[in-house]
Parts: sequence; C-alpha cells; structure tokens
Amino acid sequence: MSTPTAATAIRWERGDDGIVTLVLDDPAQSANTMNAAFIASLTAVADRLEAERDSVRGVVITSAKKTFFAGGDLKDMIKIGPGDAQRAYDTSMEVKRGLRRIETLGRPVVAAINGAALGGGFEIALACHHRVALDAPGSRIGCPEVTLGLLPAGGGVARTVRLLGVADALLTVLLEGRQYAPRRALEAGLVHEVADSPEDMLAKARAFIDAHPESRQPWDVKGYKIPGGTPAHPKFAAELPAYPANLRKQLGGAPYPAPRNILAAAVEGAQVDFETAQIIEARYFVDLVTGQTAKNMIQAFFFDLQAVNSGASRPDGIAPRQVRKVGVLGAGMMGAGIAYSCAKAGIDVVLKDVSAEAAAKGKAYSEGLLAKALAKGRTTEVQRDELLARITPTADPGDLAGCDAVIEAVFEDPALKHKVFQEIEGIVAPDAVLCSNTSTLPITLLAEGVQRPGDFIGLHFFSPVDKMPLVEIIKGERTGDEALARAFDLVRQIRKTPIVVNDSRGFFTSRVISHFMNEGVALVGEGVEPASVEQAAAQAGYPAKVLALMDELTLTLPRKIREETRRAVEEAGGTWRPHPADAVIDRMVDEFGRPGRSGGAGFYTYDEATGRRAGLWPGLREHFTKPDVAVPFEDMKERMLFSEALDTVRLLEEGVLTSVADANIGSILGIGFPGWTGGVLQYINGYEGGLPGFVARARELQTRYGDRFAPPELLLDKASKGETFTD
Ligand code: NAD
Repeated sequence: MSTPTAATAIRWERGDDGIVTLVLDDPAQSANTMNAAFIASLTAVADRLEAERDSVRGVVITSAKKTFFAGGDLKDMIKIGPGDAQRAYDTSMEVKRGLRRIETLGRPVVAAINGAALGGGFEIALACHHRVALDAPGSRIGCPEVTLGLLPAGGGVARTVRLLGVADALLTVLLEGRQYAPRRALEAGLVHEVADSPEDMLAKARAFIDAHPESRQPWDVKGYKIPGGTPAHPKFAAELPAYPANLRKQLGGAPYPAPRNILAAAVEGAQVDFETAQIIEARYFVDLVTGQTAKNMIQAFFFDLQAVNSGASRPDGIAPRQVRKVGVLGAGMMGAGIAYSCAKAGIDVVLKDVSAEAAAKGKAYSEGLLAKALAKGRTTEVQRDELLARITPTADPGDLAGCDAVIEAVFEDPALKHKVFQEIEGIVAPDAVLCSNTSTLPITLLAEGVQRPGDFIGLHFFSPVDKMPLVEIIKGERTGDEALARAFDLVRQIRKTPIVVNDSRGFFTSRVISHFMNEGVALVGEGVEPASVEQAAAQAGYPAKVLALMDELTLTLPRKIREETRRAVEEAGGTWRPHPADAVIDRMVDEFGRPGRSGGAGFYTYDEATGRRAGLWPGLREHFTKPDVAVPFEDMKERMLFSEALDTVRLLEEGVLTSVADANIGSILGIGFPGWTGGVLQYINGYEGGLPGFVARARELQTRYGDRFAPPELLLDKASKGETFTD
C-alpha cells in the first residue's frame, strides 16, 4: 500500500477507504525537521493530492517518529546571513504554499499529533482542519520560536491569529512561546481532541473525515470574523496602542527583536486577507532570521544547551548511575530547597540539621511549595504526599546510613563544613559522592577535611533552588572523574542543567556577576543618576536591577570577599588593584549604615512593615550624583556587559573554564547575563565587527574608564587569527 513519493521525507499511504495517510518520516534523521527534503516532499504530496483529489476521501497527517515534527532546521537557519534574505523568503513562501494547497484541497485533513509538535510541527497541524493530540507523556505543543529569536513562519502567526483572535494568539501562543501538554492545548483551543492511545487517535481522525467530507478552515468560509474583532474594529483600535507599550514594559527596553516583529506581523496580518498575511509574516521572519540575535539565541538555547545537558563536560567511559538516597546537611534556605528538588525527582532525602526542629522547618519549606502548587492545580494530593514522604528530617547523623550522595549546605565556615563531613563519612555508603554547596570556599581546601578527597566535589546551587535551573559543578584539585560523572548525573537526575568548572575563588558565576554589580555601583560613585544606572541594566537586557541585586546580596559580603581576595593576592606577591566600586560600598556601609536589604536599608529604602523595596534611597542623589557628569548611556550598558565578558575570557585563560558552551549557558541561566546575546562568550562572537570590533570597543572603554577593560591576550590572539569562541 505504501508508495514512495519523489522525495521521501513524507510517506504516502493509501487505504482501501480512500483515506491517504501522510507519514512524516525523514529517513535521514531521528526527528523530522523542515529541511530541503521535507519541503520538496511537501510540494510533491500537494501535487499528488491535487492530481488524485477525486479519489481521495480525506487526509491524515501523522509521524512515524517519536515526536510528530521537530520544527525548523536550526543547523541551516543559524547560517542564514543578511545576503541570504531572498532565499530565506522564498523558502518560507514555499512551505506556506505547500501547506496552503493541502488546506484548500476541499477534502478533510486531520493532524494526528502522536508526539511533540513544536514550532514547524504545530504549524503543519494548524494547516489541518482538525487536530487530535495523543496524550503522550512529555508531549508538548506550541510555537516556541520567540525563545530562539524567531517567529513561526509556516503560517503560524496568520493561523493562530485567525483561530484565537489577535490578543489570545499573542498572549497564549506567540509572545511567550509557551509549550502546552496535550490536555492544556485542548483547554487553550489549540487542538480539538485529545486521544488516549494511538488507535484512539487514528479512530478519532477517521471519524472526523467521515463526518466532514468537505472540510474548510473557518477562515476560508465567507464572512469569517477574527475572534475579538480585527484591529480595524473601534474597540480593538482603542486597545491597540497598549500592545507595544506593554511589550516595551515587559522587555524593559532590552533589544529582543522577535516579540516586536511578532506583534507587528499579528496586527498587520489581521487586517488583510490570508495570503497577504502570509507575505507579511514571511517578511518579518526574514528580518529576524538574517539578524544576529536569532543566531545568538539559537546557538545558546538550542546547540549550547544541548551540548551542556548531553554531557559534553562529563568524563567519558563512566557508566551512568542514579542516586537513590541523598543526605542533605543543613536544612536552611539552600538545604531545604535542595531537599525539595531531590525529592521531586523521586530521590529519598535525609535532611539533617542541628536539631529535629530545625530539620522539620527545612521540610516545612517543601510543604509550603507544595501547598501553593496544589492550589494552582500543578500537583495532586497524592503526588504531594508521595514527595513529602520521601523527605526524612533528622538531627541524627546515623540516619544517613546508605546514602549514595551527600550535599552539604551548612553555614559558610570551613571548620564547620569539615566537622559535618567527618560526622557522616563513616556512616554513608563507602563510595558516596561528597558534595558541598559552598558559594565562596575553595573546594580543594574543603576536600582536605575528608578521608576520600577524590570523591569530594562542589555542587553550587542557586537561590531559590526550586526555580533556578543551573548547578555549577566545581572540580577540586583532587576530585576524581568518577565523582565528577556522578555529580553530573545527579544534577541531570534532578532535571537541572550542570556546568563544570575548575576550582578558583568565586568559581565562574560568583566571580563574573561581581563585575556586573561593581560596574553599576561604580557608576553611582562617578555621579551618574542612580535611576539611570538601573535603566541601563534593564536596557542591556539584564533581568535584575543592578543596585537592587547588590542590596539583595548584602553590601558587606563583597567587602568580606574583597578583603580575602586582597590578602590572597598580596600573599602570592601580586599587586592588589581596588575597584572604583569599593569606595562607594564602604561609604554606604560605614558612613550611612546601609548594608543592604537584610539590614533594612541599602541603595533602596524598604518598607518597615512588609520589608518590600520602596524606592531608591534619596540620599544617593544628595551624596553621589553630580549635575555635570556625562557618561554616555551606551557606555553604561556596555561597561556592565564587557566587564563580565572580559573576565570570562580571563577565566578561560586561567583554565577555570574549559568549555564555551558551559560559559554561555552558565552566564544566562545562573547569573542573568542577557539571553539576547547568546551568553557571555557568544556576546563577543556576535559583537558588531566580530572579535576585532569587540577588542576595539574594549580599548575605547579602557581609555575612558580604566585598565579593567584591557582585552586579555587570549582575546587578542583569537581576534588576530580571525577565530571565534567555540568548543
Ligand atoms: P542558612 O543559614 O539558611 O542555613 C544553614 C543551615 O545549616 C542552618 O539551618 C543551620 O542550622 C544548619 N547547620 C549549622 N550547623 C549544622 C550542623 N552541624 N549540622 C547540620 N546543620 C547545621 O544558609 P544558606 O543560605 O542555606 O547557605 C548554606 C550554604 O550554601 C552556605 O555554604 C552558602 O554559602 C551556600 N550558598 C548559599 C546561597 C544563597 O543564596 N544563600 C547560594 C549558593 C550557595
């Protein structure tokens, strides 16, 4: 029954009942993508369907792969430069034409979505008259293009706008790029039916065909009105100006072109006929795909993330192992969050603190999170009870018997950390991996306190642990490959993203983020209006305000770290160079008694009753701001970005970092480096003029603001050889 078409990414199967099943099954790949073979196949099946139309009763589109369809071919897309605009436009139009021909065949077409249908996959389904999604575990449906700096260019904007209305399409599908589980997709109106089994899915598809011999899309029926009205409608026209304003507010002025283009394509496309809407969509897509931001975001959120999670930094040849029982030492803020994340992943947790009460308080944190999740319908009572049953709070080290991993999160004190490891070393499994969540202490130093330093490793979580996706794994000088592999596997087991670095003061993340904060504080010291400093961070794309972040961290902490670093540098015979931020921090703490949020006052004032941030401290203007200071706004933004990027290059030089992907992903997921850059090293690669352009600008900043902007040797070397930062 199976007849291959001219090109083979889509298999043509015709049943005796006149129903043609188009099976998406690219033989050259593990997942179907919108590559050249697919596009050729699409045109070929459209030709054949039109030729055999009279004998075709209906069409089912499904896939032979685990996923329905993976979307655009990103390997190809990342290479599309400004000179390829016409080719990109033509390709996009070819896909649209193919789908449109099937959509307007005059026969019912059903998408039997047997697995994930994201981006291009969902767009194929959208061109069908009926969508049945199999309720497969982990299956997701939606248009996540915006998260890669793109827009859905296979008719996704034009069709979702017509299906849901402009406002809903923008909010639920296009601007956030949300990925829906099949049942949620049904609630959101993205699919028509959910099936419990593949057989049920195909039966539902056939039933639709039987009942609708001449299906058409709602938007192809004369007199069809877009839900919620077109933008020409007076009510809509009145609301319209709020859209760009809201978007600006959401983006904080950060340079993300995709949301703006999506908004424009949706609104403009809703005012014209379907074919013109498709042309508009293609034009806005080409603008994005030929630009730098999409390349940065595809590099980071697809290729780098995949490399990092799939174990590029995990040692080879060590069999993966799952942790069954983990001991968490310290049930404070971090320990409680770590216990929750482990239990959520199905691991039994022994949560130990100095007293049964303190340990129980740590467990209560999970209870609180689960109560909220339950209220929002994100968990069930059964799941909640199962998760809580996995956490055993205790003050007795003996309860850690049999643990195959230990994560320590007691106070930041080396002697205490040594003590708590000594207490449990003889009790846990003899080969248990021993992890410390220290944020500042050298792993090599902490490893001196245990009998098996080869099994000792840093596992640096971020706060709040349940939300933050990254864990920084730190190899001490004596950490063995087995411990590294097991720490890596544990991080993946709890569904977080691991990056791996070598031991060094502040590791990668804490050291690099300190430059961002120092630049913000230094600008205040130079006399820049504090509100402009916060504005510059937002416009550079940072998710947090820089002075607010400094307050959260507490101003006394960088002072302590600074003193320790100064001592270490001087003991090693080096010259200590103070940062211009130091003097501002000292004045804030010593002269004004404003140590940050935990002390009730910092760069911001805090509401006494609620503890909430009230506003920038007016004293900042009085004591620091100068009327005649003129630091260009562009310099403010780039001082923050450059100071982090330049120090990351130094970390590569020093061998603390060994992977570009780890640096890019760690910077975005761990310390809020702006996502539009593709990460801290991709920012350098993608800078205007490439590495030489970046070097020239660094020199300019060095001349104006000091030697901390001097380009490191490694950067100069790569720039002169025409290289970029890649693994
Ligand atoms: P915390 O003060 O909230 O909690 C520390 C806990 O350790 C307390 O509950 C304390 O009772 C307990 N403890 C003390 N002695 C103990 C002992 N002998 N046995 C068992 N428990 C004992 O501190 P935290 O913020 O959770 O930080 C813990 C560690 O994590 C520190 O090393 C810190 O540097 C690191 N860290 C913190 C953050 C953060 O954002 N707070 C981020 C990353 C890493």
